Amino acid sequence: MSFRFARCVFVFATICLCGLLTSCAGSPTESSAASASSASAAAPSSVNAARIENADATPGEWLTHGRTYGEERFSPLEKINDANVSQLGLAWYADLPTRRGVETTPLMANGKLFVTGSWGHVLAYDARTGEQLWHFDPQVPKDYGVHACCDVVNRGVALWGQNVYVGSIDGRLHALDRDSGAVVWQIDTRINDTDSYTITGAPRVVKGNVIIGNGGAEMAVRGYVSAYDASTGALVWRFYTVPGNPADGFEDATQEWIAKTWTGQWWKNGKGGGTAWDSFAFDPALNLLYIGVGNAASWNTKVRSPEGGDNLFVSSIVAVNADTGEYVWHYQTTPGDHWDYTATQHMILTELEIAGKKRDVLMQAPKNGFFYVLDRKTGELLSAEKFMPVTWATHVDMETGRPVEAPGVRDTEEVKLIIPGPSGSHNWHPMSFNPETGYVYIPAKVSSGFYLDDLFTERRKTIWTVNYSVASMVTLPDEMPVEDRKAFANQEVAGMLMAWDPVAGREAWRMPKGLYSGSGVLSTAGNLVFQGDLHGNFSAHDATTGEVLWNDAVQGGVMASPISYEVDGEQYVAIAQGYGGETSLPFGAVTGPFNMVNISRLLVYKLGAKSELPIVETAIQDLPEHGLAAAPAEEVEKGRELYNIYCAVCHGGNATSGGVLPDLRFRLRELAPAWTQIVIDGAFAANGMPAWKDFLTTEEALVIRSYVAHEATLGRGRGENRLIKK
Ligand code: CA
Repeated sequence: MSFRFARCVFVFATICLCGLLTSCAGSPTESSAASASSASAAAPSSVNAARIENADATPGEWLTHGRTYGEERFSPLEKINDANVSQLGLAWYADLPTRRGVETTPLMANGKLFVTGSWGHVLAYDARTGEQLWHFDPQVPKDYGVHACCDVVNRGVALWGQNVYVGSIDGRLHALDRDSGAVVWQIDTRINDTDSYTITGAPRVVKGNVIIGNGGAEMAVRGYVSAYDASTGALVWRFYTVPGNPADGFEDATQEWIAKTWTGQWWKNGKGGGTAWDSFAFDPALNLLYIGVGNAASWNTKVRSPEGGDNLFVSSIVAVNADTGEYVWHYQTTPGDHWDYTATQHMILTELEIAGKKRDVLMQAPKNGFFYVLDRKTGELLSAEKFMPVTWATHVDMETGRPVEAPGVRDTEEVKLIIPGPSGSHNWHPMSFNPETGYVYIPAKVSSGFYLDDLFTERRKTIWTVNYSVASMVTLPDEMPVEDRKAFANQEVAGMLMAWDPVAGREAWRMPKGLYSGSGVLSTAGNLVFQGDLHGNFSAHDATTGEVLWNDAVQGGVMASPISYEVDGEQYVAIAQGYGGETSLPFGAVTGPFNMVNISRLLVYKLGAKSELPIVETAIQDLPEHGLAAAPAEEVEKGRELYNIYCAVCHGGNATSGGVLPDLRFRLRELAPAWTQIVIDGAFAANGMPAWKDFLTTEEALVIRSYVAHEATLGRGRGENRLIKK
C-alpha cells in the first residue's frame, strides 16, 4: 500500500512530474486609428504567412509563439543592450484578472500586445501605454480545473488575418476579433467529453490552419493534433499520436503500423497518452510541421504495454506534412517511456555547422536530460549529449539512435530513485537560441524521482492514472523539519539558466536560479538573455558570460516567457508574472515552505522608465489550531491513502499547499463543519472544488479530514507559517 511509504521512506520526486498565402484568412481590412498610429503601421494589419516567414523584416513585432516558425525566441532588437541595460525601468504594468499559474508568451502586432491569463483568458493592451483594449473570458466552469494535471495554465495566443486564437483549459478553441475581442467562432477540440482533455498550449497558425494539441496524459487520454481552418473553424486534418483500439479499426496505415509497437490492452489502461500539449515548429521550405509528443499513459509500462514495445509515438518528435498531417519521419527520445519523459519540450529550428558541413537542424532538450540535434529534413540524429545529471541511460548509441538504458531502471517494484524525475531536466519553459553567441539558453534543473509501482487497472477518472504511487512522488517524511525541507528542495530541485553550445555538445556556462527552473527565456541581439525566477526576480544576463547585468524585484514568482518588441522607435521587454503550475499543486510539501507571493501581472520595461509597482503589504500567519480531536492512527493512515489518491495532486503532498490553492491545514477550523458538503456535494464547485460523491463516501471524506487534521497538527509542531497578503 502506498501510504506505508509516505510515512516510512524518504521519498520524493521533483514535480509532476508541453507562403505567401496572404488571402487565405479572409479579407484583411486596415484597421483602427490605434494601430495605424503605431510605428509598425508600415506593416499590414493582417497577419499572414509572408509576415511571419519574414519576421526579421519587421523585428519590432512578435507575431507567433516563438517569434518565428523556427521558434528561436531571439529578438534582433539591440537598442537595449549589455552597455545600457542597467537603465532599464518599468514603463507600465497591468494586473491580470486571474490568480492561478501564468505561463504566457505575449504577442505584439501593430502596436497591440496580446496576453493570456490562466483558464484561457485573453487581454489586449496598447503596447506603448498599457491601456487595456479588451478582455475575453472563456467562461470555463471552474470545476473543469480538476481535469488539468498541472494547474489551469495557458501559454499564449496565435495571430492570423484579423483574428486572435486561444485554447481554453476545457478544450475549446476560440477565434476572436483582434480589435474588439468579440468571438468570431468557437469549437470544441475534444474527441469526447468523458475523458480529461485540456488545452494549455499556444496555437500556431500554419498555412491558414490553426494547429492545436491537448493535455491529459496523466489522466488516461489518447493524444492527437488537430488543424482547423483559421477562417471557419472547420477541421482540416487530425493526426493521432498513439493508436486506438484495433477493434474499432485504424484511422490510416500509420496507425496500423505504430500499433505493432504496443502490447496488451493499451487503449484501456491509460489510453496511450502521447499528448502534444506544448511544442510545435514549422519549416516552410520543407513543408514540415514538427510535433513534440508527450509521455505515455499510464506512465508504467507494466500496466500500459506489459509485453514491452517502443509505443510510438510517445516521447517522440514527429514530422508531418503541414497540408495533410500525414506522417513523414519521427525520432523517439525515450522508447517505451516508463518515467513521464515527454518530448513536448520546446523545439528550435536553425542552421548549424557540424563537422564542417552546414546542416538544417532541429534542437530539443526534453525531460530525459539529453540535448538532441537532429537533421530536420530526415530526422537523422546528429548529436545527443547529457546536459544534466542522468541515471536512466548511460548514453545514446549514435549508430542506432537509441538510448542505452542503465541496468534495472525499469525495476520499480520497490521504490527506485531515478534521475531525472517526472518533472524532467527541462520542462515546458521555453529555451532561446542566439545565433550571435551560438548558444542555446536552457531553463534547466536538477531533478529526481522516486518511482514505486501501483498497478491498479480500474479507471480513476479525473485523477492521476499513472500507475505509480503518488505518495512516493510528492510527500516528505512527517518528521522532517521545515529548514530541512527547504534545504532538500534547494538541493534536489535546483534550477539554473544554462548556456549550451549545440555544436560542441557541451555547457558554456550556468547561473543559479533557486528553486525549480527559472522562467522561459529570451535572448536578444543586444548580447542579453532575460529570465525570471520563482523567487521574484526578473534578470538580464550577459549572453556571452552569464553575468547578471540587471535585476528587478517583481513581488512574486515568474514562470512565463519574456519577449521584446519595438513601437515608435522605442524597444520594450515584456514579461508576465504569476506563480502556479506543477510546482504549486502536487509539490506543495516542497514549495510551500518557501512562502512565495503570487501576483498575476504583466510587466513592460524600457530604458529610462521609472514607474513603480504598488506596495504589497504582507504578514506572517502561523498555522492555527484546528480544534478537531486526534483520530486513531488507523484512521489517519486510511485517510492518508485516500488523500494521496484523490487530493494530493491538487492540494499537495502532506496536505501542504504550494501557495496557489488554499492550504487546507490553515483553514481546517473554518472548513471542518461543512467538510462533507464541500467534498461530497460540491458546495465550492464554483470555486473549482468539484463534488466527489461518485468516488468517495461521506465516511471516507471524514477520514480524509482526520488525515488533514493530523498533518495540520504536525505542521504546527514544526512551526510552519505562511506569508499572506494583507
Ligand atoms: Ca506528463
